[in-house]
Amino acid sequence: MSGTCSAEPVGPAGRSLSGAPETKPAASFASPRPAPARRRACPRRGPATRRAGRCRRPTPWSFRGSHTEPRSMQKPVYVTQPYLPPLEEFVPYLQSIWDNKVLTNGGPFHQQLEQALCEYLGVEHIALFCNGTQALVTALQALRVTGEVITTPYSFVATAHSLLWNGIKPVFVDVEPDTLNLDPRQIEAAITPHTTAIMPVHCYGRPCDVHAIQKIADNYNLRVIYDAAHAFGVRHQGASVLKHGDLSVLSFHATKVFNTFEGGAIVCPDAKTKQRIDHLKNFGFVDETTVVAPGINGKMSEINAAFGLLQLRHIEHALQRRAEIAEIYTQALSGVKGLRLLPDAPQTVANHSYYPILVEDGYALGRDALYQRLREHNVYARRYFYPLISDFPMYRGLPSAAPALLPVASHAAAKVLCLPIYPALTDAEQQRVIDIIQGA
Ligand SMILES: *Cc1c(COP(=O)(O)O)cnc(C)c1O
Repeated sequence: MSGTCSAEPVGPAGRSLSGAPETKPAASFASPRPAPARRRACPRRGPATRRAGRCRRPTPWSFRGSHTEPRSMQKPVYVTQPYLPPLEEFVPYLQSIWDNKVLTNGGPFHQQLEQALCEYLGVEHIALFCNGTQALVTALQALRVTGEVITTPYSFVATAHSLLWNGIKPVFVDVEPDTLNLDPRQIEAAITPHTTAIMPVHCYGRPCDVHAIQKIADNYNLRVIYDAAHAFGVRHQGASVLKHGDLSVLSFHATKVFNTFEGGAIVCPDAKTKQRIDHLKNFGFVDETTVVAPGINGKMSEINAAFGLLQLRHIEHALQRRAEIAEIYTQALSGVKGLRLLPDAPQTVANHSYYPILVEDGYALGRDALYQRLREHNVYARRYFYPLISDFPMYRGLPSAAPALLPVASHAAAKVLCLPIYPALTDAEQQRVIDIIQGA
């Protein structure tokens, strides 16, 4: 992204969809996540300077505002905003931590959150993590995955990075046009003697073709690890979508539907696997003096776990608001010429984690022009997922990364725009977004 302004609204917005490539340099594993958007917004557009009444750029389009009031008057609307319950509700949790002085290492809140999430999500076992990426890396270790893994190029870069961190070669396979999920019909052709697993993503929370994927995995004796970072609370055919595959990995990053500031989890089917994962996330310790594996520190702290328990008390409301907002977008935009909306997933209770639209050739503007037009009105939609993972420097040399082999994913990356959706988005703010899109 063009480095317009290093301080462009990143953070919640930026990372929201999981750290858009634009704001999180793919090459640097170690780079700190950008600070929350509002605190580091571009000085020209940041709330602070705007409040001071300065920093209006004297460009002609400052006052264009044909659809709405001048953009400089309007509050910025980001693609997402983290859900935060009232602060006073969190204080008792903090008091309890201060009282018992257990800060981490599987303390009481950690145990309670694992239990509460199993119940809420309807799954058997959960191991909490400090973030979703570490959970992905550990999931691969837990199943001793090696060699080659078939995965999607249409995701947040951490999906494939988790493979590189394990010395595994990603093999990219194209996605289906209606779900933008891994196309099972193309998986088989990508299997080699080195293939040991498939890592699909439930993109935007839409379930993958889980049955077709499992059938291939069974035929070829492959493991399946779902990157379910977008799929918190999604139900498919009457059960949690997280029950499919050998493991599913969640992210509780600030920008996800359910957040613990930073956090993640592995959903696993049996107690033995959970135990191995619990060892791996704690340096490989089994007891005080026994280390059974070169584990990592992937633990979730008590502060994050306590916050998760509080978030769970608000999750139904948050999901409800998301559903209402999605419905309004669908009503308003489904008739707009040249815009393509992804069909609702069948037999699915969605979480509306994202609202993607595809800006096809019939629309009045190109995708990037619409993206810019929205920005001019202080609306920060995001191009998730552009660029494709397979286009980043550490992947593009792979034979499977050739764009010609990934036409559906390449098309989506060129056309997609994710619109603002989060519980605190007001009707008026959403209408602003809709007016700009309809008025182009
Ligand atoms: C957010 C996300 C991740 C990474 O999760 P973190 O908790 O930010 O480490 C991985 N995969 C996908 C698809 C994501 O959206």
